[in-house]
Amino acid sequence: MGRVHNFYKPIGSNRIKCLLCRHYCSLKDGQIGICGVNKNEGGKIVNLVYGKISAINIDPIEKKPLYHFLPGTTSLSIGTVGCNFKCPFCQNWQISQSKSIENYYRVTPEEIVNIALERGSKSISYTYNEPTIFYPFAKDIALLAKRVGLKNIFVSNGFESPEIIDDMVGIIDAFNIDIKSFKSDYYKKYLKGGLDGVLDTLKRLKERNFWIECTTLIVPQDNDSYQELNDIANFIAKELDINTPWHITAFYPNYKVNNRDSTPIESLERAYKIGKGVGLNFIYMGNILKTNSTYCPNCKESLIERVGYSIRKNIVKDGRCPKCNSKIAGVWR
Ligand code: SF4
Repeated sequence: MGRVHNFYKPIGSNRIKCLLCRHYCSLKDGQIGICGVNKNEGGKIVNLVYGKISAINIDPIEKKPLYHFLPGTTSLSIGTVGCNFKCPFCQNWQISQSKSIENYYRVTPEEIVNIALERGSKSISYTYNEPTIFYPFAKDIALLAKRVGLKNIFVSNGFESPEIIDDMVGIIDAFNIDIKSFKSDYYKKYLKGGLDGVLDTLKRLKERNFWIECTTLIVPQDNDSYQELNDIANFIAKELDINTPWHITAFYPNYKVNNRDSTPIESLERAYKIGKGVGLNFIYMGNILKTNSTYCPNCKESLIERVGYSIRKNIVKDGRCPKCNSKIAGVWR
């Protein structure tokens, strides 16, 4: 059971190519792609997790994390099972690497949107596992959500195909995209993804004016060198924008990487300084108990103060600093 979708094309020899992500799996009849949830059934592609969610929560938007997108609101957050990456430190591996598709809750797009409205959320987030692999389901929810004034958020590893990115215009509003490393071989060998694809996705999202925030989970020994953090920060500053928020988050031993220390605060502080050094205006430390404030890049006024996922103060007015009237990058209503 599942739902046939249109994001594929026939490529001859009874094969079809899935167009959802940059793996572009070539599937013969009966075959399931790398993600475990898109299958060739009789020459058509079926999304096996359509309408089947593994998790649903009302989360603060700050937990996605998005700090410059409707701060202080909640986002109805859903995920399914499956993933197109195989990160050995995945913090949601129980669902992302699960193959038990039929064990989860059944919901319709209408039900999801109604829950979001009833609970007063301003947005729906497609998160927990990689949402690109269930885009046909997310899209149906998102189209309904748009009609009733809700926004849509993708929390993603950035491996969307260019075809899907174009399809998302006018449907998805904001993204948090992981930049997990700046080494191609690391992405390929350990994560089973691709750095160039992720960077290309980010540039395409930027060109199409989606709101973007980036996250880097700092894993000791893997991506915490000065060079690598500097490369990531530089990419954000030069190819995206110095006003693109960068979330640098602490790793805790998990899944297959359980023989290592968690990220020391010094590494986060070093990454923060590196980001500042290349000119980034908004850098936030996550997964640790710390206050995280947003300051006006022009007059340095403290605009938003956060403790954990809650907001203690927010004086941004109509997207501007109330003291010097500078525009503050983000989506504020
Ligand atoms: S979503 Fe990606 S991994 Fe899954 S079948 Fe399609 S191309 Fe392959």
